[in-house]
Amino acid sequence: MFIGIDFDNTIARYDDLFARLALESGYLETVPPGGKTAVRDAVRQRHGDGAWQLMQAEAYGSRMAEAELMPGFLGFVGSARRLGVPLVVVSHKSVFSNAVPGPNLRYAALAWMRAKRFFDPGGLGFHVDDIYFEGTRAEKAARISELGCTHFIDDLPEVFAEKSFPAETVRILLGATGGDGNDTVMADWFEIRDFMFTDLERAVA
Ligand SMILES: [Mg+2]
Repeated sequence: MFIGIDFDNTIARYDDLFARLALESGYLETVPPGGKTAVRDAVRQRHGDGAWQLMQAEAYGSRMAEAELMPGFLGFVGSARRLGVPLVVVSHKSVFSNAVPGPNLRYAALAWMRAKRFFDPGGLGFHVDDIYFEGTRAEKAARISELGCTHFIDDLPEVFAEKSFPAETVRILLGATGGDGNDTVMADWFEIRDFMFTDLERAVA
């Protein structure tokens, strides 16, 4: 087993931050239920994609510190570490926002990870070399292939649909509807942990 994991909206949760940004900027007067996707759709519909781009630049840049860890992720990592299953993060993330000048988005993500104890041996136990940022979705899929991930976990079915996405990698789609029938759809990290580790943990107990 060699598990690859997406970053934005898979490990880092922006639902509350996007809701806050939509209210602060005056794009929305109330927040629709349905998390990040509902906020995105409402902002795009009323103010266009440019407004959404600006909000993303803030969320993934200057306001990144306000993002949260996705519920259940810590438990998943704990099980992986106990079982000795290696984890890598492969993220499609540009260096800078295309919408507006601002901070280096990759540094912002790494700083957030550091603050969440990703790189502490007594924390999540990642090494900085376990984190890959790629400039395009195709490059991300190629990286997953090159690393030889046996499983990849992502919130976007578009990643799995990339031509360069390796056929032999198990596709685990987090909390999304859709997928093309080749994807294993999981509601949250608690379900992913059960799916991947419960039998292994019983076997070593
Ligand atoms: Mg994502």
